[in-house]
Amino acid sequence: MVEDDDEIADRLVAGLEASGFSVDRARNGDDAYAFGSDQQFDAAILDLGLPGEDGLTVLRMWRGESVSMPVLILTARGTLNDKVKGLNAGADDYITKPFDTAEIIARLRALARRTGGMAHPLLSNKNIALDTVSGKATVDGRVVNLTALELRMLTYFLLRVGRMVTQKELGEYLYRDEDTAESNTIEVYIARLRKKFGRTAITTVRGLGYRMD
Ligand code: CA
Repeated sequence: MVEDDDEIADRLVAGLEASGFSVDRARNGDDAYAFGSDQQFDAAILDLGLPGEDGLTVLRMWRGESVSMPVLILTARGTLNDKVKGLNAGADDYITKPFDTAEIIARLRALARRTGGMAHPLLSNKNIALDTVSGKATVDGRVVNLTALELRMLTYFLLRVGRMVTQKELGEYLYRDEDTAESNTIEVYIARLRKKFGRTAITTVRGLGYRMD
């Protein structure tokens, strides 16, 4: 996601991550260009008004280098001329602000389907599986009902199997928009995930954090 407005970016990242997307963010055109050129992404959400190179220039540079990921332009510039320019520069879709997060998610999924992207819609580890498109989690093939927060937490661990996750980073991730990141609430959620997925699903690394092995 390329967006210089923190408020918009935070809201969108929270919505995307709650839906199982993993998001990297650039705040200016130069970082955006570097991200897109150097790394593989399933899709990009691109703001046009940016510090440094503007969004259209970034898009033209990407396309000039055959960076082919689907690009969804998200911008306040909503005239027909702006849209035509964006699409001509190589954008795949165009949404104007103010936007609805659910619509962006739906359009991203449609873009990814069309281009055969979303390399890993299914996350799994041992007997646990998570369909990141439907949000449906299973253990030994049996469906497990999860709250939005539990789903985000499970996604976070499944994307980091074998890696230690500190309480601090988990708190920052889960409570991005709130100020209730107390360690005891994290423990409560870990306990709930263990109850649903088995005691050994998440290991406590004493004094440091947690790990899914
Ligand atoms: Ca902007």
